[in-house]
Amino acid sequence: MLVEQIYTENAYRNFNYLIACPETGEALAIDPLDHRKCLAAAERRGWTITQILNTHEHGDHTGGNKAMVAATGAKLLAHHGAKDKIPDIDVGLKAGDVIKVGKTVELESLDTPGHTMSHVCLLSRTDTPALFCGDTLFNAGAGNCHGGGHPEELYHSFATQLAKLPDETLIYPGHDYIAGNLKFTLDREPDNARAPALLGEVENQDPNQALVSTLGLEKEINTFFRLHSPSVIARLREAFPDLPEEPDEKTVFLKLRELRNSW
Ligand SMILES: [Zn+2]
Ligand SMILES: [Zn+2]
Repeated sequence: MLVEQIYTENAYRNFNYLIACPETGEALAIDPLDHRKCLAAAERRGWTITQILNTHEHGDHTGGNKAMVAATGAKLLAHHGAKDKIPDIDVGLKAGDVIKVGKTVELESLDTPGHTMSHVCLLSRTDTPALFCGDTLFNAGAGNCHGGGHPEELYHSFATQLAKLPDETLIYPGHDYIAGNLKFTLDREPDNARAPALLGEVENQDPNQALVSTLGLEKEINTFFRLHSPSVIARLREAFPDLPEEPDEKTVFLKLRELRNSW
């Protein structure tokens, strides 16, 4: 499996992706908002885009569909529940569906509601798995729930699906938010062991050569995976004095999500 991460240089700092089969050169474009950049990257690498996948229905993920279909004739795939929100879906995805790209690439569709209620993540069936997680999981952060989502569903997707993937899973999110999110981590957990040095590394990184994290690294630096950290809980109690002595994971997650909304 070949992966090209494409930074769109827009105000929302979107990442688009191309995933290609090394044998046939067929490629799947994920959320190709900047269709020109995606097409140029495919041409440069000798790939043919045959499929487009939208992780969810927001315009900064679907905005390139029309031009991309016009240029390539590619089929459009998205969550089956997005059919009234995204025009002209060819394939509605359910949990466990497998998307084939060329001869060698298989990507499993994960049904991950929370950021919106019709959001898919893709998990590659490769020796080292890769997760294309749209706006569900970000480097050092989690998606918001303002645009049609629900925090309890987001917690559920994290706890029952994402947290259970192997630590070596490569993380490919829908936006470059790592620096801001690491600052939130340090606000919530000032003694986090890894975040200060990492923030120094990524604060001035070129997003065209962005750090690709792993789930193992996320578990060290992403507050939304650090629900048992004593300092996260102690800091949370400063904001929510009635927090129980040993709050459950879900309560911690929901309170963190609430604080992040106004941070
Ligand atoms: Zn979104
Ligand atoms: Zn987005």
